[in-house]
Amino acid sequence: MNYLGVRSRRLCRFVIDRLTSEIDERDLGRPAAVFSPHPDDETLGCGGTILKKKRAGAKVNIFFMTDGQKSHSHLISAERLKCIRASEAIKASRMLGLEKEDIAFLEYKDSELNKNTHSAINRVKEILLRQQPDEIFIPHRKEPITEDHSATNRIVLSALYMCRRKITIYEYPIWLWYHQPWVNVPMGTPKEVLSALKQTLISEWSLLKDFRRSVYIGDVLQLKRAILDQHKSQMTRLVSDPRWQTLSDLSNGQFLECFFHEHEIFSQYVFHG
Ligand SMILES: [Zn+2]
Repeated sequence: MNYLGVRSRRLCRFVIDRLTSEIDERDLGRPAAVFSPHPDDETLGCGGTILKKKRAGAKVNIFFMTDGQKSHSHLISAERLKCIRASEAIKASRMLGLEKEDIAFLEYKDSELNKNTHSAINRVKEILLRQQPDEIFIPHRKEPITEDHSATNRIVLSALYMCRRKITIYEYPIWLWYHQPWVNVPMGTPKEVLSALKQTLISEWSLLKDFRRSVYIGDVLQLKRAILDQHKSQMTRLVSDPRWQTLSDLSNGQFLECFFHEHEIFSQYVFHG
């Protein structure tokens, strides 16, 4: 079964790599704004690309939409976790090549972005008018599992629509990887099996249909791993309790490995406002 899983992952990755083409080197130097639903999504989804853009001399800003306070709030106070995650995001951003003034925290409560859509659209609109980026990086519109990801997509696109700006969008996958064959999703009941099958069909179709652009990050992969390690609350147990789940715990590390291929992939299109 495991052998079959490895073979089907290799085959699917081969197909995705064949369907995508690398973005033009000149585009790496274009100014960009990255919108990250939680601290760590920026590194997982496009950390290698941010590194390449900074090396190409691009101005890059990261905007953290929520505070990430709920990831382990059953084991640590939400307020403490919020502070820890902000400090981790600052360290990771510094290693990505950004200064402190290049990042900002919108500080919406984790899991509650949908309740603050109106306010968030206005704040993102102000950011876009001030920064005037050429490119925007957001999570893919069909992201499952956590609503903050799809909400970030909708909020940023709504703000862009209000700005009436033509801009290049790069949508990145995070939880879109969380299905067979990329990870073995735990399931037991027939209902869970059906739900997993449905998610596999939707997510895999999105990956094959939408993701046609890529950035080679093979030369910065080790650095990307080191940067992700700065998000210690997500990569290690801050308290010695087995219920503290790390990213490596998800599907025995299979989920984490989705972010360490030689190419980061994107759904790229031009938004005309
Ligand atoms: Zn997230």
